[in-house]
Amino acid sequence: MDWASFTFGAIMACVTVFGATALALHAIIGRGFLAWMWARALAIGLLALTFPPASAFLFADPLDAWAARLAATDIGIAVCGPLLVTYLEPRIRVRGLSTMLWAVLPAGLAMAVAAPLVARSAQLWLIHDALVGCLLAVIVIGLVCAIRAGSRTARFQAVAWAPGLMVGTFTLSYELIRHQGLLFYVEAMLAALLFEIIVTATGIGDATVIIRRERDLAIGDVRRAIRASAIDPLTGVDNRRGLAERFANPSAERPIGLAVIDCDHFKRINDNFGHGVGDEVLVAVAEALRGEGVFVGRLGGEEFVLLITREDWRQRAEAARRRVSAAVAARVPQLPFRVTASAGLAPVRAQDSLESAIRRADRALYAAKDAGRDRALMLTEGTGPAERRLAGVA
Ligand code: GH3
Ligand code: MG
Ligand code: MG
Repeated sequence: MDWASFTFGAIMACVTVFGATALALHAIIGRGFLAWMWARALAIGLLALTFPPASAFLFADPLDAWAARLAATDIGIAVCGPLLVTYLEPRIRVRGLSTMLWAVLPAGLAMAVAAPLVARSAQLWLIHDALVGCLLAVIVIGLVCAIRAGSRTARFQAVAWAPGLMVGTFTLSYELIRHQGLLFYVEAMLAALLFEIIVTATGIGDATVIIRRERDLAIGDVRRAIRASAIDPLTGVDNRRGLAERFANPSAERPIGLAVIDCDHFKRINDNFGHGVGDEVLVAVAEALRGEGVFVGRLGGEEFVLLITREDWRQRAEAARRRVSAAVAARVPQLPFRVTASAGLAPVRAQDSLESAIRRADRALYAAKDAGRDRALMLTEGTGPAERRLAGVA
């Protein structure tokens, strides 16, 4: 078997596998450059068909084979512009680069349409060669600009295209100067195209690894953003959204009891010592409320919710409430009075939503405020007016 037949067979096999892979990956990850790589593979396949040995079977008239070769070459060059633009990393920004490379597409396609005429006219053929030279120059300039801007994919593509560009440029110059075709052009070009497909396929693998890494980073960012949206930035405990998620989480232990805890006369702190001191107090309160088996959330303002999963939930809620005064005194020692908190407790029933449990605890909290503050009250189970079902928590 001769060299041209071997390279032709290898190209057709690689083009088919590579083209199908690029198209399949395009369907999965939807990146535009994969579609352009498929188009480039298709153009290379078409070009290979216009070379011996295939051309001998496909074209009776050598001029038709020549026109088809010109058209396939032009299409192949035309798709290189968009391929490069869409393949470059989004961070690579060079002024005018994108427009310049996209312009290669219509120019190359227009030349492909004119190929039957070009193949039959020596003058048009010369013009065609000069235009091909211009398009190749645009692609080389695009590659150089992108590489200088730090593009890794452009470096890959430069390696892939280097042999084809060299063979093409050398052939064009030879034809323009000597007015005759270059010996071994077919073999050299087929080998260059084979090289391009192999290197480009490696580049796709490289790009896929990068895309996967980007995706993993993006998933991490989204997870962190979702978590951050459930956190109260001042105190670091969960906010209303975090509380709702914890309450509804089927894989977490369901709370047995709930407490709403509210600072007493908090407005006085803000009014007399400023909002900054008020904020410090809130941070101290959140710290004080944390405890084993106790999930702390901030409802808003100076109101906190405890979701407690332990049997002794009342005692734990009361212990948390009592810790507030000492924690505030330690963190904000300039306050001349003792800061206290009141609590309303409610057992969490099977049919309770977070809102319904909070509503009942809130009623107990209002009662605790009415009764003089600095205490915890609980609505007991059973029937009758709420006032008669209130119990102190020791
Ligand atoms: P009570 O004992 O009846 O609960 O009285 P209170 O003063 O604690 O309650 P009130 O609802 O009258 O005032 C709560 C204040 O909390 C009003 C609001 O300006 C303040 N506040 C709400 N959110 C924040 C915050 O993030 N930081 C600070 N420093 N103050 C806040
Ligand atoms: Mg208050
Ligand atoms: Mg309040």
